[in-house]
Amino acid sequence: MEDSLARFSEKTGVPLILTGYDLHILYANNRALKVCGYSLPELKTMRFVDLLDPGQRQEVINLAGATDRDQPVAYQGRIISKNKEIRRVGFLLAKDEQVIFISLSNISPAENIERELKESRRKLMGFLNNLPGIAFRCKYDRHWTMLFLSQTFASVTGYQPEDILHNKNKSFSQLIFPEDRSIVHLKVDNAIRTHRQFQVEYRIIRKDNKISWIFEQGNAWENKTGNIEYIEGIMIDITQRKYAEQLQQAVGNIAELSMEEIEFDNQAYFERIRQYISAVMIADNFSVLQYDEPANKLHILFSSDEILINDLVSVDDVRRTLSYKVIADQKPVLFSDKEVIELAGKDRINLYGRKGRQWMGVPLRLIHGNKGVVILQNYDQERFYTQDDMKALELMAHQIAMAINRRDAVTALRRREKYYRNFYMNLPESYQLMDPNGKLMMVNSKWLEVMGYRKQEVIGKAFDWFWADEEKTTRDKFLTILKKQYRLDHFLLKLKTKKGRTLNVILTGHSEQDMQGKPVKVHAVFADVTPIKEAEQAMKRAKEKAEENDMLKSSFLANMSHEIRSPMNAILGFSELLKNNSLPENRRSQYINLILERGQDLLRIIDDIIDISKLEAGSMHLNYDTVNLSDFLTDLKMGLLQERKRQKKDHIAFYAKIDRNLRHISWKADKIRIRQILMNFFSNAFKFTDKGSVTLEVIRHEEVIVFMVHDTGIGIPDDQQELIFERFRQVDLKYRSSKSGTGLGLSISRNLAENMGGTVSVRSVYGEGSTFILKLPMLDLKEGEINEASAAVTSDNKQDKPAVILIISHSNDNFRYLREMLKGLDANFCWARTSEEAQRFAGVLKHDLILMDMELPDSSVFYLAGQIRKIQPQVPLIAQLGSGNQNDLQKVKEGVFDDYLKMPTSRPLINAVVNRFL
Ligand code: ADP
Repeated sequence: MEDSLARFSEKTGVPLILTGYDLHILYANNRALKVCGYSLPELKTMRFVDLLDPGQRQEVINLAGATDRDQPVAYQGRIISKNKEIRRVGFLLAKDEQVIFISLSNISPAENIERELKESRRKLMGFLNNLPGIAFRCKYDRHWTMLFLSQTFASVTGYQPEDILHNKNKSFSQLIFPEDRSIVHLKVDNAIRTHRQFQVEYRIIRKDNKISWIFEQGNAWENKTGNIEYIEGIMIDITQRKYAEQLQQAVGNIAELSMEEIEFDNQAYFERIRQYISAVMIADNFSVLQYDEPANKLHILFSSDEILINDLVSVDDVRRTLSYKVIADQKPVLFSDKEVIELAGKDRINLYGRKGRQWMGVPLRLIHGNKGVVILQNYDQERFYTQDDMKALELMAHQIAMAINRRDAVTALRRREKYYRNFYMNLPESYQLMDPNGKLMMVNSKWLEVMGYRKQEVIGKAFDWFWADEEKTTRDKFLTILKKQYRLDHFLLKLKTKKGRTLNVILTGHSEQDMQGKPVKVHAVFADVTPIKEAEQAMKRAKEKAEENDMLKSSFLANMSHEIRSPMNAILGFSELLKNNSLPENRRSQYINLILERGQDLLRIIDDIIDISKLEAGSMHLNYDTVNLSDFLTDLKMGLLQERKRQKKDHIAFYAKIDRNLRHISWKADKIRIRQILMNFFSNAFKFTDKGSVTLEVIRHEEVIVFMVHDTGIGIPDDQQELIFERFRQVDLKYRSSKSGTGLGLSISRNLAENMGGTVSVRSVYGEGSTFILKLPMLDLKEGEINEASAAVTSDNKQDKPAVILIISHSNDNFRYLREMLKGLDANFCWARTSEEAQRFAGVLKHDLILMDMELPDSSVFYLAGQIRKIQPQVPLIAQLGSGNQNDLQKVKEGVFDDYLKMPTSRPLINAVVNRFL
């Protein structure tokens, strides 16, 4: 600004000083410097009044304050130059928007003052005329009748001031763009009402029909009567700035719209674009075309230009259109109608339909080599597009291309995303999408099927919610991987399904990252490896069992061969000796006895082996008969004393502690098997006792009879006490000396007792002795002398007597389970393993309730139920339905059963069912 001003002010030939409204010197030309003798930098630190005689300073300050804009004021004063010389000068103050121009003149001779002043006024006006704005004075009327216009008016409007002054050819109002006329009036009226300066921006139509933007600032002058005499001010051509501003605004709007609506719909989007463009230039006929190269066709993305739409239909060769020219050259064009016809004449293009007066097209650069064109046509407008408009349109087309490109990229991305989503959602394995905190965002149907949940129960939950008590370290590890790494590699986990089943899964995944590479989503797939894991474990168990069995069998075989061989050797040896006819009689009978004894040993071993095989195969039959305790004990005593003798343990005392009251009781049981169990206890007791005694104690707890065999032998260490009941198991050799025995006896005993609804247990202190205990229910118990009549009465009286419950089940575990569940009942349990056994029991005993497992090895349950009904028509029959045969439910309900139990069940449930019948 200073530069241009300096250049300009030097030209005026007048000493000129420029100050702010506070009279602070901003600039002085060379002539002015000469007058006051200071340099420009020096002056710039001073106020204009500092140059004056101090007596005049205040006067000049007041004068400057009172001076009106564009109404120069003259003053005569004294300037004190740098070398303190006093110079009389005349000066003229003129105010502009922000500055005061002061022109100086030497006025030594008084007569010259008037002339000098005139001269300087003329020069100042010349200065004003050359300012970039238009100085004007007009009437306050509806024509804005012009009284004065500086020369610059011609260059801004194309009209000479004379054409407009006094409305000669046109009024100034006619120059104002019609739509803007009212705003000019409004602003001026407002300013007059409030006695202020006005400022207004409006468009004018230049002589050449182009539009220019004007900034106007002015004041109204009132005469003495208070009427407006005239309006005075300055107009500045701000077309360039306005255009730039509007273009910037339009480009900004287009960019913003494209950001707001990424997946836009062409019609609505381009219509708004069209509106934004119209703020800068006429955009009534706006089209956006895309070129389809393979098909050599132009597609209309949008067009508000009906003529163009019609013309395009009749295009036979796209390559001979103006649009194609822009697309092929990738250069913007602005053709007049003449130029278009010229091109047609040179056979470059074909003419289609009605051509407009102007055709403007700019290339649309799209991704993937796609090309398009943005067209504005001017058919009959009076105002024309300019090169500036073309550049502006190019700028906006650039924004449009970016928007289309972004949309196409996003659409492609969406399509890809959809493809992947479908891919994941239809995977045959369980798929899940998590956020980096492990929260589930999506799961596929396989996931829901495997885990047994519904989608609503899963989405939004943390994935580890579904874990089956994993360690905290595993959780931390998992979350760290999610947040920091991109891959989840074969992560082993246990998941819990809705039904509570634990699944072993292998999880694999990868994360999706944001621009900074931070994981935002994690895709993961898991496979249920539970069957593999289970098979693995089962195999391991089977292997261990096989190894253990193998070991036990080898030691069993070693023992067995010893056990069988020693009696066999004895039998064979003594038989051999018997061949000798000269053998004395006493020897002979001694040998024969030995052969018999060893033969019995052998038989016992063989019996044991047969028993254990039967028990394991479930084919051990029980023969229930009346047992009279006193008879039974007499027989048992004979047997055990024989055993003591056989073992040569006569030095071990035998005691019996039996309640006298018990002597005459009798009940139904398999006495052979009870004897077998007790004889096994005695045999062991004598075997493992070297001094002291063996005692038999018999007591009764209501309907349960308890046999106890105490010994004062070597005893059994605590940790071995359960073990010895397993087949082939013996107490570890380090705790005992004798190696003999097969390890089968106690296993057989416990099995037999359980078959009869009883138990076998041991209490022992290592080094002090052992007690083996047999507890058996007494079915059909009779007390005192056997008396059929009284027995009948007591057995029928259910209130006093424990119930007799028959459990028919092939499985030992099931029998034990039921007995455990019904422990609280006052009942004795009887166990039949097969249908044949069950029928036999039903024939011997009267049962209060029968529980039947649905799976029997030897007959249909329904058949058996029918058979039992024939024997005991009144007995309540309850079917026990396992998970495998829930389908039989209907049949059970319709059949002879009284009720059923669904397994697995709970203690209260089972008791409720059973109690109904007892
Ligand atoms: P066997 O006696 O043929 O070895 P059992 O099953 O009857 O088989 O006994 C298993 C093991 O239990 C015996 O080998 C012995 O180690 C231990 N045992 C059984 N009864 C007694 C007892 N009364 N005192 C000490 N140990 C005993």
